[in-house]
Amino acid sequence: MGMAKSDQEQESAVAGAAAHDAAPRPKRGPRGRVVIFGTWCKGCGICVEFCPMKVLALNDDGHPLVVAPEKCTACHWCDTHCPDFAITVERIG
Ligand code: SF4
Ligand code: SF4
Repeated sequence: MGMAKSDQEQESAVAGAAAHDAAPRPKRGPRGRVVIFGTWCKGCGICVEFCPMKVLALNDDGHPLVVAPEKCTACHWCDTHCPDFAITVERIG
């Protein structure tokens, strides 16, 4: 009897863990749409270097590209630090 109860407890503990793993909460929070004005950008790389989410990367010409738009949290680090006002972030969602 004691054995059976302990098996049951173990099973429900495992089922609980599986249900928890199977239903991760979607991440929530602001998102941003990043636009770079190529003619103003001097390719200093500040935005690429300091974006905490690695949304940007330098292309072969040394200018930034948006490589992971889905990761932008609209923190506005890039557009507030760009020395040439060459990048803007519009908050979406
Ligand atoms: S707003 Fe923040 S997360 Fe989005 S690209 Fe700029 S620095 Fe990165
Ligand atoms: S910080 Fe501004 S000027 Fe520098 S690479 Fe980024 S967009 Fe271009």
